[in-house]
Amino acid sequence: MDIFDTHAHYDDKAFDEDRYELLDAMAKNDVKYIINQGTDVETSKFSISLAEKYDYVYAAVGIHPEEIYKEESVTEIKKLIPHEKIVAIGEIGLDYHYDNTNKEDQLKYFIDQLNLANEVNLPVVVHSRDAQKDTLDTLKAIKINNSGVIHCFSGSLESAKEFLKLGYYLGFDGPITFKNAKNALEVLEYMPLDKILIETDAPYLTPTPFRGERNNSMYLTYVINKIAEIKKILPEEVANITMNNAKTLFKIN
Ligand SMILES: [Zn+2]
Repeated sequence: MDIFDTHAHYDDKAFDEDRYELLDAMAKNDVKYIINQGTDVETSKFSISLAEKYDYVYAAVGIHPEEIYKEESVTEIKKLIPHEKIVAIGEIGLDYHYDNTNKEDQLKYFIDQLNLANEVNLPVVVHSRDAQKDTLDTLKAIKINNSGVIHCFSGSLESAKEFLKLGYYLGFDGPITFKNAKNALEVLEYMPLDKILIETDAPYLTPTPFRGERNNSMYLTYVINKIAEIKKILPEEVANITMNNAKTLFKIN
């Protein structure tokens, strides 16, 4: 089985002890591609350095809505592009989970980076938490030429349909294996196979039976098995289809 993890954070300090041993072990364990996501300027640069070190690692660069308090400039992200291993602007988006969020600032960063994606001709990786309506309205207003993915999709079936109508892929992670995953399962049942991506968000969102522990791309088999069960196809088919989807979206040959 060949696996493409489209969303991971191997720059995270949770990997400081064994980052390179772990990444070295990926290819032997079916993980053939990984996209490491930037969340600010420093982690975007780190993503690029991992992509330069490993053939099978690619980089996304961007400023995450929870990191905008650092007041970094989108121009700093732009300076990193073009680079042959940068395949997306991400992760960017809106996160209204905490009460103290400044929605206006988040929207400004989101819009600036959506415009950057069009300027540099890349797809986007969108983080959206408790902000479905604003995310949808913004993506309706700014059409992305190279499409993108709604990462760790956790919205309703109705909003899934809206994102699909705009041409977006939806990303599914460990939480689809949780007992209380009703919403995501309903969405997955509906999902056209050619719009599904699989992700870890490692070190976060670890699937059952390792929930609570540190996540890594090798655990994607649990996500694959769950999707196979819902779609009534073989795990190998899920791996192949999501591999092709990721290669298409991120233009990897
Ligand atoms: Zn992430």
